[in-house]
Amino acid sequence: MTNHELFERALKLLPGGVNSPVRAFKSVGGEPFFTARADGAYLWDVEGKRYIDYVGSWGPMIVGHNHPKVREAVEHAVRDGLSFGTPCPAEVVMAETITRLVPSVEMVRMVNSGTEATMSAIRLARGATGRSKIVKFEGCYHGHGDSFLVKAGSGALTFGVPTSPGVPAANADLTLTLPYNDLAAAQTLFAKHGDEIAGLIIEPVAGNMNCIPPQEGYLQALRELCTQHGVLLIFDEVMTGFRVALGGAQAHYGIKPDLSTFGKIIGGGMPVGAYGGRSELMEQIAPAGPIYQAGTLSGNPVAMAAGLAMLELIQAPGFYETLAARTRLLTDGLQAVADGEGVPFSTNRVGGMFGLFFTHERVSSYAQATAADTAMFNRFFRGMLERGVFLAPSAFEAGFLSSAHTDEDIAATLDAARAAMREARA
Ligand code: PLP
Repeated sequence: MTNHELFERALKLLPGGVNSPVRAFKSVGGEPFFTARADGAYLWDVEGKRYIDYVGSWGPMIVGHNHPKVREAVEHAVRDGLSFGTPCPAEVVMAETITRLVPSVEMVRMVNSGTEATMSAIRLARGATGRSKIVKFEGCYHGHGDSFLVKAGSGALTFGVPTSPGVPAANADLTLTLPYNDLAAAQTLFAKHGDEIAGLIIEPVAGNMNCIPPQEGYLQALRELCTQHGVLLIFDEVMTGFRVALGGAQAHYGIKPDLSTFGKIIGGGMPVGAYGGRSELMEQIAPAGPIYQAGTLSGNPVAMAAGLAMLELIQAPGFYETLAARTRLLTDGLQAVADGEGVPFSTNRVGGMFGLFFTHERVSSYAQATAADTAMFNRFFRGMLERGVFLAPSAFEAGFLSSAHTDEDIAATLDAARAAMREARA
């Protein structure tokens, strides 16, 4: 069965042929490939073609695909059953691990996706403060909950649907939006609406409008603004958690949010999310408190086993230093290739995540990210794919490295980039 044949079949039965929008390659053109297997830094499609993978299942695969330790943990857990519907020991170990690695999280609730984590966190913020409004940032994506599909990033940005049909206006009205990295705008909004806002949710490094780090002092200033106005600061670390540093972006930048959300890496490749924060807030969640949130499969023993195995691996000494150094090798290398080819290009990176922009400017805002040359990115993407390098199929997604990527993989990527940039420029 070829990629094309599978996609034809899929198109008849799955909306757009996929189960999540950006997988469809709509913004970059062409058809997606179907992965038959994955190992280390590579994916192999059903036709046997190998790709160096910089998507990493959209973030979780920080130790590479199919890591033997993660696989063995899953195999071991599966022997004892797939789901119990009662508490299981691995959930307790997971809670102990997360709260140890991320000190602002004193208590945690496991859920099944990043979307569930963010939806639950804002319910908690509203329940705890008695206020209704939330603040989010233009170009930030927090999953597909109604409240977040307002000026959202990722697929919603890629497809130019900042507010999805189906989101009631009454719901969207409760979501106030701000430009990322613009402190004056936040100060103005808080001066006007501060006492109506339950929570401010932010990707501490924006990864769904490409990769945009916070400017120096920005997160700290937001922290102070939230404290001043009794607004809960929610760090959405679904992407950045255990990715930009062991303790997430909050450790990297030294900020203590009130609530944090996680996903991706904590599931080791299984469907997992989590939200947590100060005990006095988390104790308001049912059944300890009145704010309802539940899940049939939450804390699933197989998912916990995968996540715990991954969290064990990333605690190895030097793990993040090596990951950051390799990421730098890649982004510096790409910059040198672009400069050599006379292509307008800049990069951003934090820890193991990176962004590529076809512009001369250093990108620190949503407006700059959307002004970069996306047509050139699309040509570059296709040139790389043809040469066996898989980048995120959208100009508005961050890229990810894993500990399985070697210097040779990066050298091969740079060789492919030289040819792909030449083509993209033409
Ligand atoms: N929050 C952030 C920052 C994300 O990047 C994502 C997904 O990419 C989500 C939330 C939603 O997570 P999920 O796709 O697991 O629902």
